[in-house]
Amino acid sequence: MLQVHSIETLGTHEGPGIRLVVFMQGCNFRCLYCHNPDTRPHKGGKQMKSEEILNMLEKSRPYFKNIGGLTVSGGESLLQRQELADLFTKAKKAGFNTTLDTNGSILDEDSKKLLEVTDLVLLDVKHIDPVWHMKVTNASNEPVLQFAKYLENIGKPMWLRYVLVPGYTNQQEFLEKWGAYFKNYQNIKRVEILPFHKYGFYKYKELGIENPLEDCPVPTQEQIKEAENIFKKYFKSVYIR
Ligand code: SF4
Repeated sequence: MLQVHSIETLGTHEGPGIRLVVFMQGCNFRCLYCHNPDTRPHKGGKQMKSEEILNMLEKSRPYFKNIGGLTVSGGESLLQRQELADLFTKAKKAGFNTTLDTNGSILDEDSKKLLEVTDLVLLDVKHIDPVWHMKVTNASNEPVLQFAKYLENIGKPMWLRYVLVPGYTNQQEFLEKWGAYFKNYQNIKRVEILPFHKYGFYKYKELGIENPLEDCPVPTQEQIKEAENIFKKYFKSVYIR
């Protein structure tokens, strides 16, 4: 059984084309800027069988037009990697593109099995500096970098993503390091900059939990442009989302 937080039927941001996006319940990171804090607890959401999601996929098939498909996002998808391997195996068999949106924190045999039936990985590398990564996510970036390396080794296509938060992730020096670190990865199909926003902030109030970035400004156009220009030195395809 999959523990699902919610489902978006016509998603346009989580991978190529139009997608059925399944948000999983539970996360092992605690990102300061998280806009889905309600997906983080391991309990909650609803239990679903792979077959129920496959039925939804079938209904959406006409919208996919050969490039869309299924994206699993979070929370953190890898926490349910065994169950997702079953879903992705069945989805691929039925001819759907499978995309995994992940923080890349777990690389074990089950993750590897899941990757075998994954067409595209959307990998968030939230900071290149270990101290800042810990500050921003409350977790180490070492497993994330190992995960990225593994994807490179097996030639798995990926989109690298980066949330740009003023004062936390927009330091010029670290943006340069991030770019330099990944510039020779042949499996990176695009890099996406996700400017920090506050759309999910009402959820903190609803959940009655403290919002550590309540007063943090969103990035200015200049800050976004600066990050884009830095990444463009290292990558051909850089998108602002
Ligand atoms: S990995 Fe995603 S869901 Fe988990 S805390 Fe970070 S932003 Fe939130």
